[in-house]
Amino acid sequence: MSICDLDKCTGCAACVNVCNRQAITMMENNQGFLYPNVNKTKCVNCNLCKQVCPVNYPTKPNDYLLVCAALVKNDAERAKSTSGGVFACLAKKVIKAGGYVYGAIVDESLVVRHAEAHSMEELEYQKNSKYVQSDIGLSYQQAKKHLINGEQVLFSGTPCQIAGLRNYLRRDYPNLLTVDILCHGVPSPGLFRKYVKSEEEIAGTKMQNILFRSKAVGWKKLFCVRIFENDAEADWGDTFVPGFLKNYYLRESCYSCTYTTVKRQGDITIGDYWGYQESAPDFIEDDDKGISLVIINSEKGQNAFENIRKEIAFATRTMDDAKRGNPVLYKPCEKPEEYSSFWNDVESLNWRELAEKYLQPQDKTDWMSEELRKYYDIPFVKRHRRHKMRVNVSRMYHKIKHIGEKK
Ligand SMILES: Cc1cc2nc3c(=O)[nH]c(=O)nc-3n(C[C@H](O)[C@H](O)[C@H](O)COP(=O)(O)OP(=O)(O)OC[C@H]3O[C@@H](n4cnc5c(N)ncnc54)[C@H](O)[C@@H]3O)c2cc1C
Repeated sequence: MSICDLDKCTGCAACVNVCNRQAITMMENNQGFLYPNVNKTKCVNCNLCKQVCPVNYPTKPNDYLLVCAALVKNDAERAKSTSGGVFACLAKKVIKAGGYVYGAIVDESLVVRHAEAHSMEELEYQKNSKYVQSDIGLSYQQAKKHLINGEQVLFSGTPCQIAGLRNYLRRDYPNLLTVDILCHGVPSPGLFRKYVKSEEEIAGTKMQNILFRSKAVGWKKLFCVRIFENDAEADWGDTFVPGFLKNYYLRESCYSCTYTTVKRQGDITIGDYWGYQESAPDFIEDDDKGISLVIINSEKGQNAFENIRKEIAFATRTMDDAKRGNPVLYKPCEKPEEYSSFWNDVESLNWRELAEKYLQPQDKTDWMSEELRKYYDIPFVKRHRRHKMRVNVSRMYHKIKHIGEKK
C-alpha cells in the first residue's frame, strides 16, 4: 500500500508519526532515501497516514510580510552558523524561556537526523547546514507533547518537513514557532554513507564529524571540513558537496518541489542572502562572514523577529531583490544531463571512481594563498588529540580560522 505518489513523497514522516499502531516504518530505497513502508498485519486501514500527508492534502502556505537581509552582531556566534546566524539567535530565546528547539544534527554515527535541544550545549549541534536529508524520526510526536504542556517550541527544517509537522498537528499552537530554510534539495543519506566509507578508507581511520560549510576561508567559498578520529583533517578536495551542488543525488521529489515559492511554510524563512553585495550596499559592508535572507511570514514570526531585533543588524529588502540571488524562491532544481548515467554507475563504481568520473572537487588553485595551498596539499596533517566531538569542532574552527586569517 502506498500512502502517496512515491515520486512526490518528500519523506517528511508525518505518516509514521501519526500512526498509533506503529504500522509504518521508514525504509531506504535503492537511491538511499527513506520512504514509508506499511506493515499490513499491523495496519487497521484507518487512513490517518493518508490524511496527514502533505502530498495528498497540501497545507495552506503563508504570504510573506517582510523580507530583509540580516546578521547577528555577535561575530563569534555568526562564525558558527552557515549564513548570518539568525537561526541560533531565535533558538536561544526559546531555550532561555525553558523551551525546546528541533533541528538537524549530525549524530555520533554520522547520521543526519532531527534532534531536540533544551540547553545551549545541545543547540550547538543544530547550527550549520547539513547537506544530507535529515531523518525526522518521531520528533513531531515529541514536539506535540511539549506544545500540549504549554511549553515553547521552535521547530526548524526544510519546508517539506514544516509542512509535515503542520499537517500532523492539524491545528496551530500559540507556543509553536516554525522556521523553514530555503532549500534547493536534499542529498541522499545512503550515498553520504558511501562517501564517508570512502573517506575513512583513504584516511585509514574513522570520520568523527563533518562541517559541510565551514567559514574558515570565507562565506562564499563552499568549504567542507572532515574531522577524523585521533587526528583532525582539514583537507581540501571534498567531492560530496560539489555533487550536491550539481544536483546529482537529490531526492526525486526535490526536482518537482512545490515549496520552491515565495509562499512559505514557516512563520520565518531563513536562507543565504546571495547577491547581497549588489542589492544592499547601504546596509553593511559585505565582510564575507555570512548574511542571512530572512522572510517573515506571520504575526508570530513578526513577534519572534522583534524579540531578537537588538541582537541583529538588518535592512528591509524587496522579494524581487531576494529572488534575484535565490532561484529556490521560484523554481525547483533541475536534473543534470548525466543524472541517469550517474545512478547507473552508483552500483558498480566505488565513491572514488564515481568522483573521478562525475565530481571533480572545486579547483583549489583559483583563490588560495600559497600557504593555504601548501597546507591542503599535505593529505593528512596531524592535529591535536581530542576528547569529545564538541571540543574537536571548536578546535577545528579555531585552527582553520587561524590559517584563514593568515591568508
Ligand atoms: C540541504 C540544504 C539546502 C539548502 N539550500 C539553500 C539554498 O538553495 N539557498 C539558500 O539561501 N539557503 C539554502 N540552505 C540554507 C542555508 O544554508 C542556511 O541553513 C540558512 O541560511 C540558515 O542559516 P543560519 O546562519 O541562520 O543558521 P545555521 O546555523 O547555519 O543553520 C541551522 C538551521 O538549518 C537547519 N538545517 C541544517 N541542515 C538541515 C537539514 N539537512 N535538513 C533540515 N534542516 C536543516 C537546522 O535545523 C537549523 O534550523 C540550504 C540548507 C540545506 C540544509
